[in-house]
Amino acid sequence: MTAAFRRQKPNGFKKKRRVFHRRKVCRFCADSSLVIDYKDSRSLNYFTTERGKIIPRRISGACAKHQREIQTAIKRARTIALLPFVGTFDM
Ligand SMILES: [Zn+2]
Repeated sequence: MTAAFRRQKPNGFKKKRRVFHRRKVCRFCADSSLVIDYKDSRSLNYFTTERGKIIPRRISGACAKHQREIQTAIKRARTIALLPFVGTFDM
């Protein structure tokens, strides 16, 4: 590694990528009137993909505590057939 290359490295290969952080707020923390209920399949449906997978926290924006509650609620709802384990199977 030459000195020139090393000098170039910090700024040389910088991609033009705009970094902006919009702080996601957990909707369940923000609004205490919202409750996570395993019987409420309509609202739990929001946290699943159309294939029936649970949406990850980094996308849903829920905090760890509430994501855990969502996860349990979805799993409960699946066992009583309110939510699918696997979504639509038409490819
Ligand atoms: Zn929360």
